[in-house]
Amino acid sequence: MLRSSLLFASRSPAARTLVETTPLTRPVVDRFVAGAAVDDAIRITRELVDSGRLVTLDHLGEDTVQTTDADATVEAYLRLLRLLQETGLSENAEVSVKLSAVGQSLPKGGHRIALENARRICSAAGVVGTTVTLDMEDHTTTDSTLDILAELRMDFPWVGAVLQAYLKRTEGDCRDLASAGSRVRLCKGAYKEPESVAFQDKHEVDLSYVRCLKVLMNGSGYPMVASHDPRLIEITGDLAARAGRKPGEFEYQMLYGIRPTEQLRLAEAGHRMRVYVPYGDEWYGYFMRRLAERPANIAFFLRSMLSRG
Ligand SMILES: Cc1cc2nc3c(=O)[nH]c(=O)nc-3n(C[C@H](O)[C@H](O)[C@H](O)COP(=O)(O)OP(=O)(O)OC[C@H]3O[C@@H](n4cnc5c(N)ncnc54)[C@H](O)[C@@H]3O)c2cc1C
Repeated sequence: MLRSSLLFASRSPAARTLVETTPLTRPVVDRFVAGAAVDDAIRITRELVDSGRLVTLDHLGEDTVQTTDADATVEAYLRLLRLLQETGLSENAEVSVKLSAVGQSLPKGGHRIALENARRICSAAGVVGTTVTLDMEDHTTTDSTLDILAELRMDFPWVGAVLQAYLKRTEGDCRDLASAGSRVRLCKGAYKEPESVAFQDKHEVDLSYVRCLKVLMNGSGYPMVASHDPRLIEITGDLAARAGRKPGEFEYQMLYGIRPTEQLRLAEAGHRMRVYVPYGDEWYGYFMRRLAERPANIAFFLRSMLSRG
């Protein structure tokens, strides 16, 4: 119920104004977001890389309805990629892109525009020697995103994508994508989805995650295990061992600000551990999804408001 309300609010302009104009929100946002400026993103990336972790950077923004905003997002990624190269970070840091931020949700020609914009970002990533992973948004975008992935991979075979275990279709998508060179980031899924397409029960989502992970681990692609769930992390170790995968042949991924001690433990144990680092001004949707995911995050938010109020 609370999760549904928060996910509903994540797409409500009125709720957005309310949350964004509350000054007390900021310290809580800072827990999950590297900062507003690209320099903040680079500074945090440096800290994470120095501690043995890998990074994927997300320039915040989604559901863009103006071509000029989509263009500005592309420019922001091009600048970020240049800076990653100049600071020597491009070997350990890649970028994550939401196609709706680069045009997918434009009313006219969105699919084509998003493909062209994503292509520009991939070209720049290729030049600086890093990779791009396509985030996955609500289920109405899944087909378009996977089509764009297939187009991009013809020129840039290293482009990865996110699949969401809560979608009933995902086990099949994992089979389709578990091939050589294919990078798949498997997560549970963060949007409000109807029963017709998504498992609603947490336990069913977890079971689906394990089925999907088995497919990816037994395939010949590169699984990226995006979860903070201790049980799934343990199961990942078992499945990887059974599939004969060594530590460098898959990776763990977590969000910036969530379970940092566990991130370090995995990195120190010799695993590839990548942190998803969002930065920029457009933090609202991302922040609300993080609150929706975990009651403790809401308690943290309320506590910090009360202690300052
Ligand atoms: C790298 C990355 C990329 C992502 N990209 C996408 C995307 O493109 N599309 C999308 O829909 N979703 C994406 N997500 C979000 C994802 O779908 C989930 O909403 C999110 O990861 C929470 O699910 P979980 O697997 O951590 O498990 P949950 O069911 O949220 O939590 C399971 C358990 O993990 C532990 N845990 C979780 N959070 C915390 C915390 N804050 N502190 C301490 N313990 C905690 C607790 O033990 C909890 O019981 C991404 C997540 C990651 C890590």
